[in-house]
Amino acid sequence: MGSTTTKNKPTTARSRAVLRDVEPGSTVECARCGERVKFQAKVRHKQVICNVYERGKWMRVEHFHSDCYTAAGEPHGEVDTTPVVKARRAAAAPTAAPTLQTRSA
Ligand SMILES: [Zn+2]
Repeated sequence: MGSTTTKNKPTTARSRAVLRDVEPGSTVECARCGERVKFQAKVRHKQVICNVYERGKWMRVEHFHSDCYTAAGEPHGEVDTTPVVKARRAAAAPTAAPTLQTRSA
């Protein structure tokens, strides 16, 4: 048990931005350049997803290319790059285990 002294959270929710992988089949458009935030297997694109609050009320979600977000001057605050903790299926095994097939001919 830690002694956290964060009793009072700020009452006004603020906009926040998180960095996420672009998902396959993504159809969102970048709020800055208007281009589709496309998934490309070869390039592991990152997107910035922003929950936009105005006067403490949630208004909308905006997506940005991570580069565009930086270029825009981080309009919704610093990007939270903490990775999502997700129950992942078996970690990708990139290389097949060496199967030694000893064939006695
Ligand atoms: Zn963009």
